[in-house]
Amino acid sequence: MLPRRYHRIKQVLDQRQPDLTVLTEDVHKSHNLSAIIRTCDAVGILTVHTLNVIDELPEVSLVAKGSDKWIFLDSHPDIKTAITHLKQQNLKIYAAHFSEESVDYRQIDYTQPTAILLGAEKWGVSQEAAQLADGHIIIPMLGMVQSLNVSVAAAVILFEAQRQRLGAKMYDNTRLAPETYQRILFEWSYPDIAAKYQEKGECYPSLGENGEIIQ
Ligand code: SAM
Repeated sequence: MLPRRYHRIKQVLDQRQPDLTVLTEDVHKSHNLSAIIRTCDAVGILTVHTLNVIDELPEVSLVAKGSDKWIFLDSHPDIKTAITHLKQQNLKIYAAHFSEESVDYRQIDYTQPTAILLGAEKWGVSQEAAQLADGHIIIPMLGMVQSLNVSVAAAVILFEAQRQRLGAKMYDNTRLAPETYQRILFEWSYPDIAAKYQEKGECYPSLGENGEIIQ
């Protein structure tokens, strides 16, 4: 691998935010999920959580522009499991959801560990998910149409989170635990070789300054 590519991978990993994530609830259109993943990559999200009980998890499409290679997809069997999993990581869950208790999405402090819950294209966030969330947020709509496309809503909210985190200098130093960082760095740099090590159940070798494998 060329050193330039290795350093690019490192630069991206250095800015990943392990405590900012998205949970999609029954987002079933491939182009929507793909666009959300692409936005997550741009904002520095490491893992996208999904839940598809009505339809199957859609295939990631060309809309993702390959960003899915740099994002982990964690699929959950039901909303309770998904939200419990996120709460165990001390994430506050904000449902992008129209309700009487909704607040403007700009009122939230996204420098705190946060998960954004996004609802299905047709019927939005389920009642159960809305109840389990820590709060509800809305992007004010001043036109004739009542909602945005789900991937657009994701982008609007996530770039506000990015703005706040840039201001708090949360992208300046790596935020991943050293072991996690080294593991992902190897997997992103050498996916085929990483798969062979996984098959054998062996630890990855170390990497040199320019990404060369040190045996
Ligand atoms: N009819 C659905 C409803 O009543 O919620 C509309 C669903 S909308 C197309 C899909 C998802 O995008 C919503 O569940 C929500 O998560 C997000 N969304 C769209 N527009 C939004 C807005 N203005 N504020 C907050 N979330 C929004």
